[in-house]
Amino acid sequence: MRSVDAHLAEILATVRPLAPLELELERALGTTLAEDVSSSVPLPPFDNSAMDGYAVRAEDVPGTLPVIDDVAAGSDELRAVGPGHAVRIMTGAPMPAGADSVVPVEWTDGGTVSVRINRDVPVGNAIRRAGEDVQAGEVVLKAGTVIGPAQLGIIAGVGRRRVWVRPQPRVVVISTGAELVEPGAPLNRGQIWDSNSFTLTAAVREAGAEGFRAGSVGDDPAVLLDQLDTHLVRADAIITSGGVSMGAYEPVKEALSPLGTVRFEKVAMQPGMPQGFGVLGDDRVPIFALPGNPVSSFVSFMLFVRPALDKMRGLPTDTAPVTAYVTAALRSPSGRRSYLRGVLSSDGTVAPVHGQGSHQLAALASANALIVVPEDVTEVPGGSEVEVIRI
Ligand code: AMP
Ligand code: MG
Repeated sequence: MRSVDAHLAEILATVRPLAPLELELERALGTTLAEDVSSSVPLPPFDNSAMDGYAVRAEDVPGTLPVIDDVAAGSDELRAVGPGHAVRIMTGAPMPAGADSVVPVEWTDGGTVSVRINRDVPVGNAIRRAGEDVQAGEVVLKAGTVIGPAQLGIIAGVGRRRVWVRPQPRVVVISTGAELVEPGAPLNRGQIWDSNSFTLTAAVREAGAEGFRAGSVGDDPAVLLDQLDTHLVRADAIITSGGVSMGAYEPVKEALSPLGTVRFEKVAMQPGMPQGFGVLGDDRVPIFALPGNPVSSFVSFMLFVRPALDKMRGLPTDTAPVTAYVTAALRSPSGRRSYLRGVLSSDGTVAPVHGQGSHQLAALASANALIVVPEDVTEVPGGSEVEVIRI
């Protein structure tokens, strides 16, 4: 049997970061920056008012001053404030020459012809200085940053319309199994509803990639090959579930083994021992052939596909280990690394859930973590410190 670490290492040695492309900002959310983004101008570009109020010379207040003008945000007229004068100013409006402070409207009687200012104002009050946020030429985001809403905002804020990014990988999810029926349709004897394609497509999206659920292809290797042919043109990766174990009617194994570019292994883990991985087509599109049991396919996704997607996105693949104290004793088979489902609490404990079978999807759905038990450990006493993986 092959170790979990060796299997992951092969996967990470095979997958490559996606090539950068230039995208419109509207399409850049969730992608990874492939360039350093800098600003050609200072931000703010000019000194401006941080408040609605009056631009004055600080030495003229308190007192009553004539209001000689109004300046709104967006104004491009050159204003000046002479001694003993005030200009009404709005938030974001450029500071008039001669003024050294803004008096917030709340400190005044709000007058429009003349204004009564009741208190002192420090020089520089409520002025946002040019370059206070960003200096001209400064890098505001480094290559390798994932673009979220605020990152998108600063890219727009420095005036960019398009940006070089590594796109989100497009991942096609195919489930196999003659027993599978689309949820919503009635079940006949011997049938079950297809859950894996929903779980895995959702997991792909949560991992920052684009998931396409291709549905189920039954147990016919020819149908699977046909589907793969259709999807390969638009996929950066493919995930299948089911059809990789030791029985008969294993369509994934039957279809892909002869190609010679996909290997099927027993990986020393529980759940999820049978695993297939390789590449397809001229573009060497990675394919993850995950086992069919719902918990096995999900755990396999977390261990093998998620880091691979991180690498394709141009992100680091290693995560800092998290530990917790397990609330009950655990058992684990010798020679295999176990990933038991548990509920991790904010007090630093993790409680194994009831129902650790690889078909027990409801138990998985009640958990928020996997409890890792190493290969050489068969019994873990309650209260022990264990490694956990958040799910
Ligand atoms: P297999 O790996 O194809 O032998 O499937 C192992 C187990 O997982 C069987 O009990 C299947 O019925 C079940 N299974 C396979 N695919 C799915 C799926 N897409 N949704 C739910 N259960 C599945
Ligand atoms: Mg099957």
